[in-house]
Amino acid sequence: MSLLALYRRVLESLGSDKRLAWTLALANVALVLAQFAEPVLFGRIIDRLSAANASPDRAGLWESTWPYLIAWIAFGLFTIACGALIALHADRLAHRRRHIMLRRYFEHVLQLPLSHHAQVHSGRLMKIMLQGTDALWMLWLGFFREHLAAFAALVVLIPIALSMNWRLALLLIGLSALFVAVTRLVLRKTSALQSRVESHHSDLAEHASDTLGNVALVQSFARIDDEVRALGGISRRLLGAQFPALTWWAVLTVLTRSATTLTVLSIMAAGIWLYIHDMISVGEIVTFTVFSGLVIARLEQAVSFTSRLSQDAPRLRDFFSVLDTVPAIRDGSHAVDPGRLRGEIEFHDVSFSYDGQRAAVEAINFVARPGEMVALVGASGAGKSTALALLYRAFDPQSGRVTIDGVDVRDFRLDALRRNIGVVFQEALLFNRSIADNLRVGDPDASDEALQDAARRAQALDFIEREPEGFDSRIGERGRALSGGERQRLSIARVLLKDPPILILDEATSALDGGTETRLLRALDEVTRNRTTLVIAHRLATIRLASRILVFDQGRIVESGTFDELCLAEGIFARLAREQFMMHDNGREHDRALSEASA
Ligand code: ADP
Repeated sequence: MSLLALYRRVLESLGSDKRLAWTLALANVALVLAQFAEPVLFGRIIDRLSAANASPDRAGLWESTWPYLIAWIAFGLFTIACGALIALHADRLAHRRRHIMLRRYFEHVLQLPLSHHAQVHSGRLMKIMLQGTDALWMLWLGFFREHLAAFAALVVLIPIALSMNWRLALLLIGLSALFVAVTRLVLRKTSALQSRVESHHSDLAEHASDTLGNVALVQSFARIDDEVRALGGISRRLLGAQFPALTWWAVLTVLTRSATTLTVLSIMAAGIWLYIHDMISVGEIVTFTVFSGLVIARLEQAVSFTSRLSQDAPRLRDFFSVLDTVPAIRDGSHAVDPGRLRGEIEFHDVSFSYDGQRAAVEAINFVARPGEMVALVGASGAGKSTALALLYRAFDPQSGRVTIDGVDVRDFRLDALRRNIGVVFQEALLFNRSIADNLRVGDPDASDEALQDAARRAQALDFIEREPEGFDSRIGERGRALSGGERQRLSIARVLLKDPPILILDEATSALDGGTETRLLRALDEVTRNRTTLVIAHRLATIRLASRILVFDQGRIVESGTFDELCLAEGIFARLAREQFMMHDNGREHDRALSEASA
């Protein structure tokens, strides 16, 4: 996107406030134009003074000058009052729009598919959000206060100057053109550098956020020095790109400063020469000198605006490019809200590939009846999570259909679909908020009694009550202040509050101690009751509860049946049961189960 196109996009982002924004900007232009009255009045007074100087009668001087003085005061007061009023409104508007854009970005990013989040680090997305909205805000403020006014001032000044004295006016235009040319040169030199600087800034944000998010890992592996050094490395690369750009901007600043002096001096010198040859009045020289100051001040503004825009351009491009990312998964045009579903799930010949080459799941067919519990088992990487992700539309299958109660999931509104499905993730995902807030993610309107009840059923009430502030205790980032088992039970309580007809359960693989395990099983028993449950099962106890087991291997369902049937078949499941489930369960129960099955 070119700078001009980018700037247009920035202004378009003012959205519904565009009209107010234009009104403010145009009012500002009117004000700036009013400021031109000053040098003109100044010139007139000087001419009256010099005329009086030449004549012996100075008594009439007051009569001839006071109207100019009064007009000058009136203009001055008017511009100050209006200027303050406009600036105040413009500031408020810019602040308000900044937060509207921030919210829009936030909402958009939250809707992006998980596959996108897997590729772009949250720290980077956060940095793009904060710096992008900052850049928008600065540019809007500039637009209301300066940009349009500076442009209009230059456009208006030129004909006024030409009509007053074309020789001096041409000199002024020539000097301004030189100024613009130098600025363009610097812009060309720095724009590529600035993009590199920005990408290093993003790396910096990503690295810092990644490290801070894993502080326990950093400390336990004594990696503090390495991480700090890595951050230092990024900073060094950033400065390496930043310094040459700074040099160019410093050159421009020096040139801008000298341009002011140079222009005023040239106008003075040319003015004196013209005066000697009787081609200009003293008042006109004064007016032009003030004009040249005004022109240079406006050009300076234009330069600082262009430099600002070019420095912010990479940030804005990143910001808009995230906003323009079209979510792969979104509501179809005829999507409906089905209300509460019964929970009959059916996979019809479903295939899906992440990279378009290797299938992660292939030709999956199965039915789960309302209230039934189906276990998905298989080696890691066999496609179990992928199959379930297709149910709640983290992805859509490339071929085949997933239906609930006979309707393709793509025909439901996304929010309605996801309201009907509860997920208990393998790693309990929790906010850094109070326990009550975390539970109310399941049901924002749940009463305190409902929270208590869900916590009790999820076997979480006793540990919550042991916390110093009970349900109001904060649990740290990702629930760090709790143990793994406690986090799991909280996430089960959360789903109990949500009370969906369909439940997806990704069982934790890590072995828990006996007491915790029993409690967790009791909680799971509670949460799976009366719901269609699809569970990625790692424990023998869970698998035995399932009414059907689907055995996944390399993306396909290779066996299915009840526990007993599969054990008898002596196929993959029987082998898996021996190899894998022994690791998580106590061997005796496992052997007993197998021998019972074959008896
Ligand atoms: P399981 O749940 O049985 O362990 P998965 O469904 O996670 O298996 O993975 C199935 C296959 O898809 C694996 O080969 C895995 O590497 C691949 N896979 C999983 N998630 C992604 C992803 N986000 N991007 C690319 N490939 C993936």
